[in-house]
Amino acid sequence: MQQSLRHLLAASALVLVVPSLSAEASGLHVIPAQTATEAGKVLAESLGEVDVLGEFAREINQRLELPETINLGFVECGEANAWYLSEAREVVVCIELVDYYYQLLRAHYEKGDELDQAVAAAFSFIVLHEVGHALVDVLDLPVTGREEDAVDQLAVWLLLQEAGGDTAVADAAFSFLAAEPSAGQEMGDEHALDAQRYFNLLCWVYGSSPRLHAQRVRDSALPARRRAQCPREYQRLQRSWQRLLAPAARQGLRAQG
Ligand SMILES: [Zn+2]
Repeated sequence: MQQSLRHLLAASALVLVVPSLSAEASGLHVIPAQTATEAGKVLAESLGEVDVLGEFAREINQRLELPETINLGFVECGEANAWYLSEAREVVVCIELVDYYYQLLRAHYEKGDELDQAVAAAFSFIVLHEVGHALVDVLDLPVTGREEDAVDQLAVWLLLQEAGGDTAVADAAFSFLAAEPSAGQEMGDEHALDAQRYFNLLCWVYGSSPRLHAQRVRDSALPARRRAQCPREYQRLQRSWQRLLAPAARQGLRAQG
């Protein structure tokens, strides 16, 4: 596991390219891990050593001035999941997610850097998605349609700000395709079905740079009609999130080419 974590940290560089700020009164704040078992404690300590969540917090705090403190912490949940608790202003990231993604993706990627990077991408996407819920809450952002879809868009856009972000989004997309449909995957669920989230992410990364991702999309089953709309979908989500976050932006969010 240690070896994997070192790789995970290296792969996570795609979301941690900014220098740290001094201590903030508000903004994302990493809290100590809550564990229930000895194994969970050991894993949480390893994750804490490489400061996985701290890098997310620094990235967001560097960009946005938030009116409140949002806690961000690993919890040994007993399931591979993550969520945002509005009352507590807390993003809960289950430590089980890391192993879940290694198990899910190991048959599809070459063991080593390739697998580590795919795990880091899927994990980063989920954390940024949950941070998105927190931003909608504390910034009181307007959302029409499903918030789940809106914060998927935010997570894609944030990942694409970084070098290698397009590969990360494609890997995160694949993690939805690789996931076994679960009992929770109901038509009436607040989330889109995993297969739909796969196609959405693929569409948006393609839309962000069609020439670069033409082959990736040709190799997929993304319908041609949807594909033709993807550049517009991406431009719309980018403009919308830039505008929504502009009042809280510290130094203007970097435009994505
Ligand atoms: Zn969500």
